[in-house]
Parts: sequence; C-alpha cells; structure tokens
Amino acid sequence: MLIVQKYGGTSVGTVERITEVAKRVAQRKKEGNDLVVVVSAMSGETNKLIELAHSFSKDPKKREMDLLLSSGERVTSALLAIALSEMGHETVAMSGRQAGIQTDDLHTKARIEHIDGSRIEKELKKGNIVVVAGFQGITEIGEVSTLGRGGSDLSAVAIAGALGADVCEIYTDVDGVYTTDPRIEPKARKLANISYDEMLELASLGAKVLQSRSVELAKKLNVNLITRSSFNNNEGTNILREEDIMEKPLVSGIAIDKNQARVTLRGVTDKPGIAAEIFRKLAEEGVNVDMIIQNVGVDGATNLGFTIPNNELNIARKAMEDIQASEKIEIDEGIVKVSIVGVGMKSHSGVACTAFDTLADERINIQMISTSEIKISMVISAKYGELAVRALHDAYKLDQ
Ligand code: ASP
Ligand code: MG
Repeated sequence: MLIVQKYGGTSVGTVERITEVAKRVAQRKKEGNDLVVVVSAMSGETNKLIELAHSFSKDPKKREMDLLLSSGERVTSALLAIALSEMGHETVAMSGRQAGIQTDDLHTKARIEHIDGSRIEKELKKGNIVVVAGFQGITEIGEVSTLGRGGSDLSAVAIAGALGADVCEIYTDVDGVYTTDPRIEPKARKLANISYDEMLELASLGAKVLQSRSVELAKKLNVNLITRSSFNNNEGTNILREEDIMEKPLVSGIAIDKNQARVTLRGVTDKPGIAAEIFRKLAEEGVNVDMIIQNVGVDGATNLGFTIPNNELNIARKAMEDIQASEKIEIDEGIVKVSIVGVGMKSHSGVACTAFDTLADERINIQMISTSEIKISMVISAKYGELAVRALHDAYKLDQ
C-alpha cells in the first residue's frame, strides 16, 4: 500500500513526541508499505513566529511572512527524517518546493495548483520514507508560499491525491469525530464512518480534527481519509464517499456553534431590491451571513433577521447604519446555533419533527430554522444550548 500520513503540531510537539511518531512510521514501513509523511510545525511554533514578526511590524509583508512561517514545518520534517535515519531507515526530508507543490501567488493563503509528484515517486522507488514539510509550496516564479492556517492537512490530502495513495491518515491528539462534543455530552460516541459532506457540515465538531478545505479537496479528489490519534492505538474515523458507507445512520451528529449572533432589522421597506442592497453591503464588508429570515410584510414594512459570526458584529452594525435600510437595528449575542446532521435524512421524513418535539419538551423556544438536504439548524437562546445538544443526542439515540 501507498500510505500518506500527516502528523499535527501536538503529535510532533516535543523531541519525545517526534521519536514516538518515528516509531509509528517505521512500523508501517516494516509492514511493507510505501510511506509519505507530512508534518506540521511543532505546536505553538507558527504562532511564535507570527509574534516575532509582529515585534517589528504590525503589518509585515506577506512574502516575508511566508518565508518565515514555512520554516516551522521544515524544522519538523528534517528532525523526523534524522530520527528515522538513526533508527536505520532510509529516509529523505523535503520542503514543499522539493516535493513539487506548485501554488498560486496569494501569499499566506495560497492555493495548490498542481503537484509534480515525480521527485517523491523516485525517492519511494529507491525505498525511502519521504518526509514532507506541510503547509507550504512554491509559486510559479519560485517564491515560497504558505497555504493558510491548518494548511498541512491540505498538503497531505493534495499529495495523496496526486500520488493516488491508498489512504491518507491524519494524526492529531483526538481519536476521531464524535457524535457531539464529549465535553457537553459524555455519552458522545466516536463515529467509525462519516461522509465528506457530513464532515463539512459538522465543521464545529471536526474543526480540531481536520481543516475544512482539506475535506473539500479530499471529496474532489476522492481521497480516503482516516483521522486518528497519535497518542494511542484506537481506531479512528473514516471519512469517505456517501456511496461507500454501507449503513447510513439517520443522524450522525449534533453540532453547536456558539460564535453566532443575531441581527434583526425592524421596519425595512418592503419593496424589490432592499434585500439585495442589505446583503450586498454585508458581502462587501466581508461579513459571513448564515441564516436569514424575512417576515411577511405589513403596511409596506417588514422585519429581516440574520445571523453572523460574533466577531463581525461591529462591522455589520456599522454597515447597516450606513445604508439606513431599517428603522431600527437589534442585536442579540445570546444565541447559539444547534445543527443535526445526517445523510439518512435525505430518504426519511420526520427527522425535523423529532427535533422540534424534543426542544418543545424541554420548553426551549426555536427562534430560527434552516434546513438543507442533510442538515437541520436551529437558533436558540445560548442559555439552553448545551441542554438542547444533550436532549437531541438522546432523542436520536446517538449513544447507542
Ligand atoms: N503550522 C501551520 C499552522 O499552525 C499549519 C498546520 O499546522 O497545519 O497553522
Ligand atoms: Mg493542524
């Protein structure tokens, strides 16, 4: 088998941890596999480098930031290769450039355009374990670029796709993806399988496990992903195509997003073009609007509500004041969004009904609802967020 493994920052955070990773890699090699290992910087290292830059400038040039930040991953790739060699394994470490990772020129958030895997393939053929510095590539004119925070996941998936690897194993400090946050519901269960789309919808549960962009890429390239812990030998969670999941659960997980706030515009003129004006302005200001509700208009006026990330509230308020689209702007920071996600919903009715019944039984008022093919989201008062998660987890029997 050709296996691409990726180890996150905590997995390579100390000398001891790197030694543990080397043992894991060596074991898979001994079993007769070809191995490409992508590594993150040691945990905290990227932040430290950013801070260092900020001690000289509030707004350092992005080109130099990329040169700086890419060094963190180079350190770990070289150290892991040195450790593996010392254990008697033929190993070669590479920077993004050496690994043939070509990106566009958007410094600090570059996109991978193409991977020339010939160098990696040549080294694999010679029997080498190839260790690649994640999070980085090279632009067309030979500048060092980085892929955005958490970008090593993306490196691993892209390399797995380019080489046609049998599997891409992502190692972190958590066991996999759970039915909900175990800190909220101790009965949460680790999922054996989950589809790409569910994983994307459960972003808030999976964020610590996998960067969203890498899941999107894995879906596009049909890369078989496994997330596992590098701190134990537990089975992880497989992330794969929906067609490849035999038993499709009705509901796979319950996510809670605590970083949302609600904006209500009262007395919005009820005529064509107003909504376009409001949401164009918000888009121009870079505000990420999630749910939207518009009431039926009365006497030429209506109310319009929408949710946005908490930290974009001030920008949104100012934008709405600027265009004076409403008589009044109300803001509620005390809300959360609870989402129920599952591919089984596509073919079953009554899933939403169970959610509404469950919240009604707990006397929790639902303020907004939105649905997609595989998700039902509800905005409720933040006070009841965790209670709602536990009640829903129970209602869909996710602990079984
Ligand atoms: N070191 C980079 C970061 O901290 C990339 C990564 O860890 O995936 O964002
Ligand atoms: Mg990471």
